[in-house]
Amino acid sequence: MRIIDQAEMRRQQQYSEQVSNCLTAFRAETGFSRRFWTQTFGCQLNENDGEKIAGQLTEMGYLPAEEIREADIIVLNTCSVREHADDRLFGHLGHMKKLKKDKPDLLIIVCGCMMKQPEHVTRIEQHYRYVDIVFGPQDIHRLPELLYHRLTEEKKQYLVGDEDTLAEGLPVRRVRHYRALCSIMFGCNNFCTYCIVPYTRGRERSRTPQNILDELRQLKESGYREVMLLGQNVNSYGRDRQADQDGDFSRIQDFADLLEHAADIGFYRVRFMTSHPKDISTKLLQVIARHSNIERHLHLPLQSGSNRVLRLMNRQYTRGQYLVIVRQARQLIPDLAVTTDLIVGFPGETEEDFADTLDLMRQVRFTNAFTFLYSKRSGTPAADMPDQVEGQVMHRRFNELVDLQNEHALQSNQQWLGQVVDVLVEGASRKEEQIFSGRTSQNHLVNFTIEPAKLPGRFLRADGLIDGAALEGSIARIRISESKTFSLGGALEGWQA
Ligand code: SF4
Repeated sequence: MRIIDQAEMRRQQQYSEQVSNCLTAFRAETGFSRRFWTQTFGCQLNENDGEKIAGQLTEMGYLPAEEIREADIIVLNTCSVREHADDRLFGHLGHMKKLKKDKPDLLIIVCGCMMKQPEHVTRIEQHYRYVDIVFGPQDIHRLPELLYHRLTEEKKQYLVGDEDTLAEGLPVRRVRHYRALCSIMFGCNNFCTYCIVPYTRGRERSRTPQNILDELRQLKESGYREVMLLGQNVNSYGRDRQADQDGDFSRIQDFADLLEHAADIGFYRVRFMTSHPKDISTKLLQVIARHSNIERHLHLPLQSGSNRVLRLMNRQYTRGQYLVIVRQARQLIPDLAVTTDLIVGFPGETEEDFADTLDLMRQVRFTNAFTFLYSKRSGTPAADMPDQVEGQVMHRRFNELVDLQNEHALQSNQQWLGQVVDVLVEGASRKEEQIFSGRTSQNHLVNFTIEPAKLPGRFLRADGLIDGAALEGSIARIRISESKTFSLGGALEGWQA
């Protein structure tokens, strides 16, 4: 791992100022500001990377575009984890060709996990020649340098570095006003046989507790109510740097310690994601139990309920061990919601293996699950395993699994009927302007109505309707009157602005 030092960050700062000068000159000449548009695919870690890209562009003097056609720079921040990621990227790039034709000085940047896979970079070089800049997730901090060279030398900039890096102090332009994402570590050492992440994001690199806690304190001061600590496997936080005495590692040695310190800062809520079952400790569960502002939600990817398949996946736990963790967690934290990820049709999965997964689901009864059909990722061991499961069989098993999970989710949600819950309000619901939504500590999505008379006047618009955007980040007490598979419904009872 290479920690990006102050000298390198200063060098990037100088490039940033030079790009800023170019933009100032352009504005003086034309009267127009340059604008950017970013599109991020994939997980919240990638979303946080997208925020850092937007932060750097803003610092250089670019303004956000209201719509893609208005942009002078388009950034596609790719993800290689989900199925058909390449189809989506190249579909988008095809669409960019027309935009570039209409606006020849438009710059197109492609970055993110997919740019660590040489076959995708080669395909861009050969068939999408209008792409101007390419870089992987480890080189985000070099965006000012790449942009400066592209603007001044008119040469394409393709950077496909191999080094695992850790850069601190990048500016961040956050997507939400109420929840801030905070990446505490990067990369993964686990090499699950179906997963591309260790190859695209590199080995685990933990940020120092000092840097993380400084960032969290700033977020608290800026008014963020909720923070989400992110890593591919947050439970192995610090292991790569345990011998490191700098940056507070002597005081904060693992994720449980870090989470406790984060909770003590005083956020309304602290969330974290993702946990690997093999690394969950009793100490961590005790920390969660002790702090009411740590979410009552544990996302614990199971993937399969069969010991044989878990071995093939290299998950490093058994179904028995998984059950022990869930039981212990529920004993220590009685109001805990447990959610999971499940893969159906992993190579070699038999009917018996699949039945083991259903059986474990019945024992655990997950509140929610992200369910996936296994799909090959080239470059991973599972892609070359024998006995790939036939599509029809896979789909039949998938439907059965989803039906069971939906039944469990609905039953779990029905327990909340008649109860009053606190939600952190996320704004107006996507479908109806006067229905609002928020999330509970268990991460349940709650849609609710509000009688305008129950709100202070500053939340009302001139037409008497409620201003959803003004409600973001408030805490509402909701009486639950409806339970669905994926959400709860209710009405506002009380309010904490
Ligand atoms: S723990 Fe496994 S599934 Fe998760 S990122 Fe690491 S290798 Fe991928």
